[in-house]
Amino acid sequence: MTDSLAPALPRPADPASTIDGLDAWRSKTAAQQPAWQDPEVHASSVKELSSLPPLVFAGEVDVLRERLAAAAQGKAFLLQGGDCAETFDGATADKISARVRTILQMAVVLTYGASLPVIKMGRMAGQFAKPRSSNDETRDGLTLPAYRGDMVNGYDFSPESRGHDASRMVKAYHTSASTLNLIRAFTQGGFADLRLVHHWNKGFTANPAHSRYESLAREIDRAVRFMDACGTDFDALKRVEFFASHEALLLDYERALTRIDSRTSLPYDTSAHFLWIGERTRDIDGAHVEFLSRVRNPIGVKLGPSTSADDALALIDKLDPDREPGRLTFITRMGARNIREKLPQLVERVTASGAQVLWVTDPMHGNTLTSPNGYKTRNFDDVIDEVQGFFEVHKALGTFPGGVHVEMTGDDVAECLGGADPIDQDAFAERYESVCDPRLNHMQSLEMAFLVAGALAKI
Ligand code: PEP
Ligand code: MN
Repeated sequence: MTDSLAPALPRPADPASTIDGLDAWRSKTAAQQPAWQDPEVHASSVKELSSLPPLVFAGEVDVLRERLAAAAQGKAFLLQGGDCAETFDGATADKISARVRTILQMAVVLTYGASLPVIKMGRMAGQFAKPRSSNDETRDGLTLPAYRGDMVNGYDFSPESRGHDASRMVKAYHTSASTLNLIRAFTQGGFADLRLVHHWNKGFTANPAHSRYESLAREIDRAVRFMDACGTDFDALKRVEFFASHEALLLDYERALTRIDSRTSLPYDTSAHFLWIGERTRDIDGAHVEFLSRVRNPIGVKLGPSTSADDALALIDKLDPDREPGRLTFITRMGARNIREKLPQLVERVTASGAQVLWVTDPMHGNTLTSPNGYKTRNFDDVIDEVQGFFEVHKALGTFPGGVHVEMTGDDVAECLGGADPIDQDAFAERYESVCDPRLNHMQSLEMAFLVAGALAKI
């Protein structure tokens, strides 16, 4: 009797075919994969990862897809930011909270400028693997494997440290879990109170170097006080949604964390809410595109200046065959010099095809240079110029510039040149901390938010 009252369970999809699809990438070329030194450690690490709990839940991933769909339709704006490469040592409470806090501060300014919800997403809790343009690095006549992120090898320049150690994937999982735990505590536990975040922003405008942003800051202040006077329930604004993302580079890791969701019987890569494919691994016939075409998560693809409109259309066909809003984000990283010339043809052809992707600008990776004193850096003005070019192109074509993707930190580092309170190259020797690409520091990040908010207010 009781059996007949039991709710009918959804019929799972044919598990065999789903799993086959998830492993189709194995017969394709996977660029940028490590050469693991010990096959036994590799096998046991992958096995362990396969049995560990998911880092995110499928339901959260579905919520993010809805939020990104709104952004693709011009009804929300994406802010995605964090380190170029997270490190195990850098996963401290202070550094994580400073980064989350800076992203929340930026988001308040952008929300005001856009008069739209801002989707907050960290390049955090999983951004541990890096593609490299060269396999090796030579110092003083000694050649060793290049650093590929803490998930693969160590930054120290010694043969022991630079070997590819698969057990690091397990450590990356645990470091991601503790990072995500802290992010969830901060964003769900009252840390994100709008009035508090607004109060932090006052510190930025108190700096005389930032006086040009005072009027916008005053407007935000008045808006917050207006909300208060109207009886806004600020307690309800203490919790914010915050999503985790990283480049899906190591396919062993991503595959091991991919699970079939019991509600929908569909595969989700539970290593993060959002995963992107890098500029070096977006080959349409390659393993990365194949693997990510099979999971339900929203997917991003970085598009550099060599991307043709045909490349973009082929990626849409493969990654978003159903033209599902929120599924696909194109993160363009053209460089300030190229964006006004290269972006229009991509946007035009994609729009004409009927696809509705989310367009996001990464104004960092096309603007990297070496400073005269030998550091990898970027000019703040180039970064802002690329964002401006991105807005101009979309305005001219009547499409929506849906977000920014930045390498940033909440700390007072000196890695990018310029800003209103300028960083110059002499500061690098003392305050350059990144093990990979240069990040905007706390103040430069806020300054960018004020500038982008001004541009958003005009669209
Ligand atoms: C990155 O985001 O750190 C990166 C390597 O970017 P891209 O793939 O665009 O070069
Ligand atoms: Mn980078």
